[in-house]
Amino acid sequence: MRYIDLHTHTYFRSPDDLQLMAVAGIEAVNICAFFPIEPTYGETLIDFFDWLIEEESGRVESCGLTPYVSAGIHPRSIPKNNFDDAANYLLALIDHGKISAVAEVGMDSGSQKEEEVLRIQLRFAVEYDMPILIHTPRTNKPQILNKLLSILEDERVDPPRVLIDHVTPDLVKKVLDFGAFCGLTVQPGKLTPADVAAVLKEHGSKQLVVDSDLGMYPSDPLALPKTAKHLDREGFSAAEIERILYYNPKLLLR
Ligand SMILES: [Zn+2]
Repeated sequence: MRYIDLHTHTYFRSPDDLQLMAVAGIEAVNICAFFPIEPTYGETLIDFFDWLIEEESGRVESCGLTPYVSAGIHPRSIPKNNFDDAANYLLALIDHGKISAVAEVGMDSGSQKEEEVLRIQLRFAVEYDMPILIHTPRTNKPQILNKLLSILEDERVDPPRVLIDHVTPDLVKKVLDFGAFCGLTVQPGKLTPADVAAVLKEHGSKQLVVDSDLGMYPSDPLALPKTAKHLDREGFSAAEIERILYYNPKLLLR
């Protein structure tokens, strides 16, 4: 079985964790940008993006994983000053083919500011036909998902270029009907492999993606292989399992 983990923040984890992922069959990881405070200046994000592209990708590769690097301004790390500098730099990275996706972006509190920041980045992504990974929050998820979908529609984003992530089982249908990929995050406090099995049984594998959101909070480098093991024991076919753990992530990163 092969795996691509579409949502990771590898820079918060040790080489041991990354080597473990490689040994377990994870071929590639998408390194998503998330700076864990609101930076004082946009320039902080510029340096952070450069770090991911110039240093972290090499570190990940040296652990046996193929790195895809993404950049984006997360709703919880919007710079207090010089936002335009960070946004213009993101656009330059896209234009120069330095990143694989616009990630991690989205909404958290649902504020007007978050909406503005998201819309700017969606316009960049649409202009360059880039994949987009959208964060959805723990609180008010249904309301904020509705808002996100209406913004995506309004900005004429092509749904198959989008992963709406951290979707809960009750909201899967809404995301699938919209036409986006639906991210199921297997992590303590989010979903379990058993939750994935239930969603897969009800909705099929066509637009589902499982990821770990590996990062600074409790999260499992082996979330994908453990999910595959569980699905196999539940009787799902290898083709279906590989679709949500390898081929769908690959489609998004094409
Ligand atoms: Zn994340």
